[in-house]
Amino acid sequence: MQSLTSRPYTGRFAPSPTGPLHAGSLFAALASYLDAKANNGQWLLRIEDVDTLRNVEGACETIIQSLRNHGLNWDGDIHYQADKNSYYQTGLDQLASQGQLFYCDCTRAQLRESPGPYPGFCRQKKQVTYSHASAHAPASHAIRLDCGEQQYSFNDRVLGPQSFDMQTLGDCILKRRDSLFAYQLAVVMDDAAQGITHVVRGADLLESTAWQIALQQSLHLPPVDYAHLPVITLANSAQKLSKQTGAAALNDQYANKNLLRALQQLNQPLPLSPEQLATEAIITWAVEHWDIQKIA
Ligand code: GLU
Repeated sequence: MQSLTSRPYTGRFAPSPTGPLHAGSLFAALASYLDAKANNGQWLLRIEDVDTLRNVEGACETIIQSLRNHGLNWDGDIHYQADKNSYYQTGLDQLASQGQLFYCDCTRAQLRESPGPYPGFCRQKKQVTYSHASAHAPASHAIRLDCGEQQYSFNDRVLGPQSFDMQTLGDCILKRRDSLFAYQLAVVMDDAAQGITHVVRGADLLESTAWQIALQQSLHLPPVDYAHLPVITLANSAQKLSKQTGAAALNDQYANKNLLRALQQLNQPLPLSPEQLATEAIITWAVEHWDIQKIA
């Protein structure tokens, strides 16, 4: 397999504990697992609980149990984001010392008046200095990365060559006005800390990849190979199947059926007489027959 990195394959599944696993999240979990194991890699589990306001009580335990019930067993300890704030702060301090951050106090109403990417209103007026990034941002200010006008390109293993112009994406938030660290910073710093070499996830995060590459480069972190999967939609609708659109929780009693449906959606071959196979045997078979190029 062509790879950006010569480090040993390390993949991950990184669910946010905002609800139980559903068919869409099983699809991403299974694809990232199969790709890691078919490449003799490690598959790590990271619970993305950095947005403490969205975490749902009990969701984390349900996700963990559901992965186990589907035969998706991770390597090593589970990594949690909620206790990593001082680590994320070191990244923010580094970016501040490089002059790449600015405070933003744009209100939602202001931003609504200029739809599209962040219009850069605060870019010039409020550079964050190194000493200020260590402290809290002034009340009701977010901290954004000045993304400049660069273009970021990468070769997605499923979708092929991708290119994003930062002017059309805008400056992403790294620390929110409620002082929670934002997903983009946490995901990049955690992928580096966990030695992740390959990310396999839903194409709803495709655009985020450009911000994440920008952050990796600014923080001098190693590059990652990306593969973005088609987004599973609600039946008879273009809407993404997600917790927000009310996707039903997986019923773990039908783990085999759930796995076979996900394999079918991934356009992978199915074993003969799968009803006679145990969950682990289906997973083993799927690892042996995994071909990422078959994904539509
Ligand atoms: N936590 C994100 C989610 O549940 C996934 C992040 C990622 O895979 O980079 O949608």
